[in-house]
Amino acid sequence: MGLVRCQFRGILWRWLQIFLERHIQAACGFCGLFETKREEIVIATKTHALTPEDFWKDLETSLAKMNCKYIDIYQFHQMNVCWKPGDGSGMYEAMLEAKKQGKIHHIGGTTHKIGIAREIVESGLYETLQYPFSYLASEEELKLYQMVKDHNMGFICMKGLAGGLINNSKAAMAFMSQFDNALPIWGIQRENELEEWLSYMKVTPTMTEEMNAYIRHEQDELSGNFCRGCGYCMPCTVGITINQCNRMSLMLRRAPSKGWLSEKWQKEMDKIEDCIGCGVCKTRCPYELDIPTLLRENLDDYRKVLRGERKV
Ligand code: SF4
Ligand code: SF4
Repeated sequence: MGLVRCQFRGILWRWLQIFLERHIQAACGFCGLFETKREEIVIATKTHALTPEDFWKDLETSLAKMNCKYIDIYQFHQMNVCWKPGDGSGMYEAMLEAKKQGKIHHIGGTTHKIGIAREIVESGLYETLQYPFSYLASEEELKLYQMVKDHNMGFICMKGLAGGLINNSKAAMAFMSQFDNALPIWGIQRENELEEWLSYMKVTPTMTEEMNAYIRHEQDELSGNFCRGCGYCMPCTVGITINQCNRMSLMLRRAPSKGWLSEKWQKEMDKIEDCIGCGVCKTRCPYELDIPTLLRENLDDYRKVLRGERKV
């Protein structure tokens, strides 16, 4: 499909879209763009729907808010099951009907679960897969990339910065540039970040010996049982913000620590004391993390940092 051919144009517009979304917060900001440049833009969006009724509601809302007649890639979001025709849910049939009506052009799916991701690819029913992919990818995830490529699907990479844990954008981009079928979506919060990413469109960082060594060091430090911040485990029974609190130790050391040590975050971290060990979160974590234990470890470290017993 044309997805990969459109990669750089797609990235550019996606980033611009995210930037506008966060800073202008006005759908009409997009309307002008879409009316004049629609055919040059690849629009990918997604639905959390679990019923055909909600699917149609979401699709119509997206079309109306973006003031466009069709969506290029419409994705089932955070899939916990791989919807298929005849499975009784009516979900895949809804996608097919939307395609028939010309409201969407391609069918995709997003998931954080490797088993579901494989099923999506093997089903032959989806044209794109959106999955977390960064230089912290495991062997299994690298195999998944190859599988997607072999099935001639588009691979949309979310969490290219591992939810904020990777703080070297050049290394992240150099890693990603090795995968010709991968379309990273980085997410942008500040104008300078947009400029940084756009500069990589002109001069794309490539892997060097030095970069390789840096990434290997990062992999040694970060691979394994760390929280990716995906939020699948939530809501917590007692209201703990698990997706941030469970990786606080890493955030303190890999991002400016001041914000994470604020009164707001101290209160959020204190909530870890309320954990009743119900284990509901553990059943939802795609990485099978022992969340209550990790939370306690993070709280212990956080308090030591607050007391000045540990430096970050
Ligand atoms: S085990 Fe603790 S953190 Fe997990 S859902 Fe229950 S109360 Fe929340
Ligand atoms: S604990 Fe697991 S499910 Fe929850 S945010 Fe972290 S990685 Fe995601």
